Amino acid sequence: MGNNLHAENFSLRQQLEALLHEARCNEDKMRRFDQLERQLISAGSLAELVRTLLSEYKSAFGVEHVTLALVDAEYETARILEAELASAQGLTLLGSGEALEKLYGENRSPRLGRFDASVHGKLFGENRGNIASVALLPLARQGELIGSFHFGSDNPERYESVSGTRFLERLAAIISVCLESTLNQERLKLLGLTDALTGVQNRRYFEHRCQAEISLARRHKHPLACMFLDVDRFKRINDTYGHQLGDEVLRSVARIIQGQLRAGDTVARYGGEEFVALLPQTAANHALDIAERIRARIAAEPFGSGMHGITISIGLSMLLADGAGDNCALAGRMISDADRALYQAKHTGRNKVVCDGDPSPVPAGKAGLAESLARSLSAATRIFLDLYSNLLKRLMHYGPM
Ligand code: GH3
Ligand code: MG
Ligand code: MG
Repeated sequence: MGNNLHAENFSLRQQLEALLHEARCNEDKMRRFDQLERQLISAGSLAELVRTLLSEYKSAFGVEHVTLALVDAEYETARILEAELASAQGLTLLGSGEALEKLYGENRSPRLGRFDASVHGKLFGENRGNIASVALLPLARQGELIGSFHFGSDNPERYESVSGTRFLERLAAIISVCLESTLNQERLKLLGLTDALTGVQNRRYFEHRCQAEISLARRHKHPLACMFLDVDRFKRINDTYGHQLGDEVLRSVARIIQGQLRAGDTVARYGGEEFVALLPQTAANHALDIAERIRARIAAEPFGSGMHGITISIGLSMLLADGAGDNCALAGRMISDADRALYQAKHTGRNKVVCDGDPSPVPAGKAGLAESLARSLSAATRIFLDLYSNLLKRLMHYGPM
């Protein structure tokens, strides 16, 4: 009897301890979840939100694989995250919500269960290792699927279809609201970054974009060209034809500049009658050709209302790819180099393109084209020599490879 009581007592105590242990684990989980929730809500940008989702959840909950898919039919998210996309491992942007509609169907609740490569393979990509169970969270706003958040565990029992999903449902709802809110913030930021008169970007956007392009150019060792473009004797145009026609000229000039650039280039109104353009992955000789084309197009443009002889001067500089200092310092240097080249173009007759570091500006007309070609070659030769001497330096430093 006494022994029975003792055994029962022991078993009850064990059960109690197990319950206490589980309660402590849950409390700890809730605390970490609470902390992450705060981090999500306070994310200042879409990039920060994506980073938190992809890295913090992994470490806080010890999940081996975390991926995120976002529906981005208009390439809006791609544009916002441009600089971060290359490093955001685990993020996929989808051209439509079709695949997610198929995955979740009508019932938009989390899906838990064993990993099935034919259904889940694409969600986790190539480096999925030995995922055995998955939890998939649909992200939806106003009835529309905007994305999907995925956990993959090597433990087959971790995500079982019978597990309670209240915790995951709440997480999906919070992520969805945070995504919508940061996207709206980013949209507002973009709206405040366009020039009202010409429709091109404004100086604030250019400054922000400049940092992003410089960091991409440095990471991938791509050339980055910068142009400063200033309408010649614009004050005289205003004085002769009136301010309103002057505005019309600015709109046309912006349109012509934009027409000569690619979709990935940036053109902004820097102020007054001055524009600036950033051309990623564009070598000096190519940038010089483009600048010359812009100059020639504007000189040949019939602006209407009797306006004629409107021209532009352009200063061109290249990012110092091996330059020391942070992105901000390099941006400052690239801009002041282009500005100096523009100043030189103005002071040697206007209606011309000057490349920074090149003493003789490119004159307009046919002779200019021939010279521009020769200069393109010399710019290319310079870049080649730079690359070659860098390579030699490295070889001497590391010895034979
Ligand atoms: P330069 O060839 O040396 O560049 O001569 P400029 O006359 O173009 O340069 P300056 O800086 O003397 O004059 C720029 C003029 O641009 C003065 C200003 O009234 C005019 N301007 C600035 N913003 C606007 C605008 O939004 N609309 C119009 N119509 N004119 C503007
Ligand atoms: Mg001017
Ligand atoms: Mg000016």
